[in-house]
Amino acid sequence: MNRLLRIRPGFLVVFGSSAIGGAAYRFLKAPSPSDASLNPHSFTPYTLVDKQTVSPSSAIFTLRHSESAREPESVQEAWVRSVWSVQAKQPQLQIARAYTPLPPRSDAPAADETSEDVRLLIRAEAGGEVSTYLHALPENATIELRGPNIECELPHDIKEVVFLAGGTGIAPAMQVAQVMGRRTGSKMCILWANRRRDECVGGVSDEHILANPVHQAGSWWRGLLGISQPAAQEAPQVPVSGGQGVIVQELEALKERNSFRTRELSVHQELSVQYYVDDEKKVIKPADIAKRLHDSTPDQKGSKLILVSGPDGFIEHWAGKKLWIGGREVQGPLGGALGQMDLKDWKVFKL
Ligand SMILES: Cc1cc2nc3c(=O)[nH]c(=O)nc-3n(C[C@H](O)[C@H](O)[C@H](O)COP(=O)(O)OP(=O)(O)OC[C@H]3O[C@@H](n4cnc5c(N)ncnc54)[C@H](O)[C@@H]3O)c2cc1C
Repeated sequence: MNRLLRIRPGFLVVFGSSAIGGAAYRFLKAPSPSDASLNPHSFTPYTLVDKQTVSPSSAIFTLRHSESAREPESVQEAWVRSVWSVQAKQPQLQIARAYTPLPPRSDAPAADETSEDVRLLIRAEAGGEVSTYLHALPENATIELRGPNIECELPHDIKEVVFLAGGTGIAPAMQVAQVMGRRTGSKMCILWANRRRDECVGGVSDEHILANPVHQAGSWWRGLLGISQPAAQEAPQVPVSGGQGVIVQELEALKERNSFRTRELSVHQELSVQYYVDDEKKVIKPADIAKRLHDSTPDQKGSKLILVSGPDGFIEHWAGKKLWIGGREVQGPLGGALGQMDLKDWKVFKL
């Protein structure tokens, strides 16, 4: 997930992804004052209205359009069927980087924020030019955004998704969960890998909950039964509520939204999340994926997709390198661990 865009006065050189490379002509266009709302041609000023710490290295930036312009149709469309990103500018160095807007919080009181705010989960990369610049900005600072850039379309016939997310790769996973939540009969499993527990405090894998039903009980019961909230204890400096970090809470809210009650009143979950933490020696294994790639039955219509998103090394490990051909970033052959597996009729897409 590394994309470099360098903006020089008058022109811009793209060392970037397919979406950006393919749309380079757009960046040559002079900014137009009439481009009031978010658009891919010019940077639009947003105000940083909130910065919520998620972990020692990441925060959710809530950005509001400075003139309260309406969300453009292109963004509304992107929410329905795409994985998409915006670029944030570092004005002193004239460079920009891509970030993936988080879906609006389904559990937030309407007055708290407008659904048109752009929320970005940004990890401060040690020595990173743009991410450290953004993290150093105070509230009410201006951040200029450009977009949307469509990274991947999710055709209507996609009904099942297995999403391998590394670190901030969870942001596109949440976009996909939001899209799949609109599709009746869809199913999605996120396998989210982090180096440290403080990125996903209180996250308990659904598989674990199913195997240990006591985890379904609230925190009061857990306390009574002596079941600890391991993550919260390990990372007390990270903001938690009910023993869960911010992103874990948002994943829980997405799960809730993507669930429905069957006639027998049992809850049928269309979204499940598995947590993996390097420091706890829990890493995603090919078998964790294989058991989710079931065969289609004749009544199961629709395509199945494995999406891989995260740092370059994560994508390479699971699906092989993306390639640069003719100035465009392309998928490249399927390699890595997925390339060694029998994927049946599942397709793979590297984000
Ligand atoms: C489509 C897309 C979506 C993305 N979405 C998100 C998102 O939602 N959230 C998110 O946090 N990120 C996201 N990213 C990643 C993001 O775009 C940036 O790549 C990331 O923030 C790092 O940018 P930076 O300018 O801070 O770091 P850079 O300056 O690009 O540096 C990156 C790393 O390389 C190291 N480095 C730089 N130069 C050198 C050098 N000469 N020698 C050795 N090491 C060096 C730095 O120390 C740093 O660790 C996304 C990327 C893409 C392509």
